[in-house]
Amino acid sequence: MDETTRNDLLKLFKGKLNRAMRYYLETCTRCGVCTEACHVHASMGQTRYISAYRHEFVRRLYKKYFKARGKFWPSVGEAKELNDVTMQELAEVAYSCTGCRRCVVYCPFGIDTQMIMSIAKLLLVGAGTEPEILTLLADTSIEKGKSLEIFKDNFLEGIKRLEDEVVQKWQAEAGKTVIPVDRQGADLLYVALAGAHSIIPAAAVFNAAGENWTLSFFEAVNFGAFVGDPTRTQLILDRIINEAKRLKVKEVCICECGTAFRVMKQLSGKQPFKVSSITEVHARYLREGRIRLDKSKVTQSVTYHDPCQIARNGGVIDEARYILRHLVSDFREMTKEPRYNWCCGGGGGLVALGEETLDFRMKSSRVKADQVKATGATLLATACENCHTQLSNLNDHYKMGVDVRFLSSMVADALIPVA
Ligand code: SF4
Ligand code: SF4
Repeated sequence: MDETTRNDLLKLFKGKLNRAMRYYLETCTRCGVCTEACHVHASMGQTRYISAYRHEFVRRLYKKYFKARGKFWPSVGEAKELNDVTMQELAEVAYSCTGCRRCVVYCPFGIDTQMIMSIAKLLLVGAGTEPEILTLLADTSIEKGKSLEIFKDNFLEGIKRLEDEVVQKWQAEAGKTVIPVDRQGADLLYVALAGAHSIIPAAAVFNAAGENWTLSFFEAVNFGAFVGDPTRTQLILDRIINEAKRLKVKEVCICECGTAFRVMKQLSGKQPFKVSSITEVHARYLREGRIRLDKSKVTQSVTYHDPCQIARNGGVIDEARYILRHLVSDFREMTKEPRYNWCCGGGGGLVALGEETLDFRMKSSRVKADQVKATGATLLATACENCHTQLSNLNDHYKMGVDVRFLSSMVADALIPVA
């Protein structure tokens, strides 16, 4: 690595050093409480997957370049130089961490591994050594935001083709558009993923609840966040923020995509609309008597996987249970305290990297498969696309013998008229 590259990367590093980050980098006492917290370490048993050990790769660079002791006595301060070898180490620790933050709830100081790993990911982006596909996907999303006119007609045609399937789940009121798009003055903007499975059930539930809603032109997923690029993350987010402001909606509802929800909720700043997950919206409809569900539709024993970015990191825990109480007769919790639920092992961009990460994802998530099996349930529900993909892969790999279902789609299939 040449000096200019190193200096440029250190500038990026410095830009991440706010008060919280310095606290995370300076506080670890190596108490070891987080040792068993990480599903990767718990499943694979290798020291390098202990969360505090991951921090060290970033912390030693911090000591070398931003602390006096590390600058002048690197051996005493355990400081390390930024070079091609340390960059490779950063790639390994960052892309074996799903950012689930389970370790954070165990750490007595609340040291945030995901935040520390965001330095590693940013340095990889700065050096152009991040997983290229994630940046390409992020750029495609950004491009769509810039040239909507090119995509608009195809998108509208595609949406029109889904209407019959929505009506099969719930007949829309006479004269009402089944899937409204670009509706000025709608109360709620729904941001889906690319794919009918993310639109059809959601549309049926909105129509059943009599919601004044509209569908976003943009897909919710934020590949900028997966790759740890703050500029791309913000540009992808801005497309939705600008659309919500233009349509003057009161609420932006994010589909079953954990990262999209957390990023929108935590990074969109003060806006004239509130941000909700679709799980929260469905729970609200039930509470307000706007929809009703037929419990007899689900005959299986059911367990629920809390997506880390929606539950532990987004605070949406009780809402899923509230829905499940109205939806199933035999619900089995995986853990007494859902905040400590194991990660599925697919977050942080790992599922988006597909086959390339499959072997690691399977090996690193054995504890999740064991946790699901221990419930004895035959249906595994979740509320995140990434989790759904990863859990389906685990189901095949570990022969778990469960049906993996989206919670929102179960809600749509159980709709009955409000009495
Ligand atoms: S629990 Fe917190 S303080 Fe203890 S070793 Fe882990 S990160 Fe460090
Ligand atoms: S954030 Fe999750 S994957 Fe990363 S070290 Fe902590 S427990 Fe492990």
